[in-house]
Amino acid sequence: MTRDILCLSSDTGGGHRSAAQAISEALQYLYPNAYQVEIIDALLHYSPFPLNRMVYWYRPLVNEGIYLWKWMWKSTAGRRRTNLLLNLAYPYVRGRVRGLFQRPEPDAILSVHPVFQHIPLRMVRQLGWRAPFISVITDPISIHPVWLYPQVDLCLVATEEARQRALRAGIPAERIRVTGMPVSLKFAQKVNDKLSLRAQLGLAMDRPAVLLVGGGEGMGPMFEIARAVARARPPAQLCIIAGRNEGLRRQLEAVSWEIPTRIFGFVTNMPEVMGACDLIITKAGPGTIAEALIMGLPIIISGFIPGQEEGNVRWVTEQGVGILAQRPAAIAATVKEWLEDDKESLSRMAARARALGRPQAALDIARAIHELINAQTRSVMGTRATATGSNRDFRSS
Ligand code: UDP
Repeated sequence: MTRDILCLSSDTGGGHRSAAQAISEALQYLYPNAYQVEIIDALLHYSPFPLNRMVYWYRPLVNEGIYLWKWMWKSTAGRRRTNLLLNLAYPYVRGRVRGLFQRPEPDAILSVHPVFQHIPLRMVRQLGWRAPFISVITDPISIHPVWLYPQVDLCLVATEEARQRALRAGIPAERIRVTGMPVSLKFAQKVNDKLSLRAQLGLAMDRPAVLLVGGGEGMGPMFEIARAVARARPPAQLCIIAGRNEGLRRQLEAVSWEIPTRIFGFVTNMPEVMGACDLIITKAGPGTIAEALIMGLPIIISGFIPGQEEGNVRWVTEQGVGILAQRPAAIAATVKEWLEDDKESLSRMAARARALGRPQAALDIARAIHELINAQTRSVMGTRATATGSNRDFRSS
């Protein structure tokens, strides 16, 4: 019998969908055909205006509207304030959110998005559904209180720091597990060696490759960074992933580059691209950082989204796997320094990154979900058996 999992996500950035897909893949790998995971963009399809526009506004908001985003994040980042806001929003959003639950009860509800915790869980319980509600928190360090709801059945977090936050928010210790960030199992499989991957991707064979990425949306001053690096003429090539940012891609394609440069739009083979490269320049996106660690890439953090990505910067630098350099000139200088004069620290950081990477995280998450669903099934069957047993006793008395 296939069990249904309803997965609440949204394409605000690329990380939530990547996490949902990684978990779905891991369930299929461990328990073939036992689970059917339906990943829903709940903001886009089941939220009222203006929330349903967030998928389109997110990139401009965290790029051009960065101060507004920072203000929104910080001014709501207290537990009481969050609860007040959610209580105020509830009557307004519940009509649309209810649409999510006009279906047969699934075997579990999985949420990988901060906005879909309190309200859907509250509604599910009001409906009388007993399916376990599981939160997979895809921010490893700076966790907005909206992620953390004490009534959740299982809360899966990426780091010990995140576990401490979940505890402080009132989630019982036995319901929290530190599993790491869910990344695709493709990162756990052996990819080809660097040179074969470079050949496969049309990259130059004789130069180290610098990967430049700005999350799923191609965020931040990627064009300026790419230009500064190319103009510095390091002994390297550039591999740029513009993600869903088509404007950026066109802008990059119009340039005549000083060093060999390959430009991609949204790629679906990130493990291969990372495997072909030697270091990464990225905003502090948690998904990309988790993947880069597994692939042993030293990290230059070129920026961060205020609020949710701030802690990631501290984490990367404290762990000795990268540095923060925000100005394009500083980034270009670091690339040059690492590749020309400081190959030793580059390989030290690469080794540290590999040691910290958790390629098995999605499998651990899948096992935890499976165990919880089994426990729930046993408890429901136990309740039914007790009820049947007591009926028999009653009839025979
Ligand atoms: N990603 C991808 N293809 C691309 C660009 C990004 O699959 O062309 C994936 C990337 O591998 C990562 C996610 O999108 O899993 C980005 O997540 P992150 O948390 O780094 O940043 P976000 O986009 O959520 O801000």
